[in-house]
Amino acid sequence: MHSRPHPWPRSTATVAAGAACLFVVAAAGTGASASAQDDARTGSEGGAIYVEQPEIARVSCLRRCAPRRRIQQGSTLRITGKGFSEVREVTFHGGAGAADDVRVGVRPAGGRRLSAAVPFGAATGPISVSGDGRIQSTRTRVIGILPAPPPEPNAELSPVPGPRERGAPRLETGTNRTKAYFGARRAVTFSYRISEGAPQKVTVELLSARDGAVVRTWSPEVVEGTVQEVGWNGKAAGRPAPSGRYSFRLTVAGSGGVTALSASARDFDRDAFDLYDHVFPVRGPHDFGGAGAHFGSGRAGHSHQGHDVFARCGVRMVAARGGRVKFVGYHAAAGNYMVIDGAGTGVDYAYMHLQEPTPFRAGERVYTGQTIGAVGESGNAQGCHLHYEMWGAPGWYDGGSPFDPYRSLRAWDSWS
Ligand SMILES: [Zn+2]
Repeated sequence: MHSRPHPWPRSTATVAAGAACLFVVAAAGTGASASAQDDARTGSEGGAIYVEQPEIARVSCLRRCAPRRRIQQGSTLRITGKGFSEVREVTFHGGAGAADDVRVGVRPAGGRRLSAAVPFGAATGPISVSGDGRIQSTRTRVIGILPAPPPEPNAELSPVPGPRERGAPRLETGTNRTKAYFGARRAVTFSYRISEGAPQKVTVELLSARDGAVVRTWSPEVVEGTVQEVGWNGKAAGRPAPSGRYSFRLTVAGSGGVTALSASARDFDRDAFDLYDHVFPVRGPHDFGGAGAHFGSGRAGHSHQGHDVFARCGVRMVAARGGRVKFVGYHAAAGNYMVIDGAGTGVDYAYMHLQEPTPFRAGERVYTGQTIGAVGESGNAQGCHLHYEMWGAPGWYDGGSPFDPYRSLRAWDSWS
């Protein structure tokens, strides 16, 4: 709620904020630090056990590279050096700290080179290789890793890239969207058709590109010749799945056990989509206002409990996160307002100054991205805007506390 005049347009500089990213040019050092080698030479009981440690000399992009052969998530790397025979793992260290480390298994071809898939969770930073026990290289210098490009859409059913054993069924697949939102009515739908090859067993898996793990498995009945569908609601093991890249994989066994797959293990382009946890609530040109629009800025008798997003009156407003409607009403300051208890978040989402009362009633369900009203200036507002609040559990004027939603809003605005 706020009472200062905010004529639209207020600012042109803050519209359409994309996430600006700075990437470090790929450059692998030789990892010449001696500490790891020294550790490894320490023999037990005085015996001179020398363990040759792997050393990385060069890292380059082999396949699925960004332009100019730059490395991106999903690329295959060629790593050369020495002492790789016992190496079983590559670690992408990312930024400071271990929390963002991502590991990927490898099978080196001899002692001097190996190839490794760059996981989708990998970020710019050094890498190292390791094996059982004491096999551990030093870290390279920082290697730039670009984020993966958006998934290639394949909404229409089309023949799969494989692999397929001789005589196995033929497969076609399609995935209806490349951006999915948790809490949407049906986040994403995978379609497929099986023909020929006497299908015996059908498995649909959903894989996380972050680490290749299977997050959901379906075993639909075997149907040949007609289009079948599997829908996913964004949950894994009953909880909201983490944001990130996912892909569907269809495996069909034919007679005699010959198998066809819709895509290879490392293919996170086919039937892939990005799952997001929220959508930006104002669906038209907007800006984030000046200092007075921010959380905590001064108001008569209190401080601002949300963030104001300015847009023309009438611009469509949607639920940033679906859930259960907690309150709707009219308040002299808030105007037409609505509070949604966000499913699986513990957060309450409050929308104020709506142009008209929302058609929803308390207790009703709202999906992520569903229209809840339009930007207005009802109540104590001058200038059309959404006054937006987020409250931690147990919720809005229910024992919870409001927190600054600005960074969340900016993030959602960058992808939706
Ligand atoms: Zn406000």
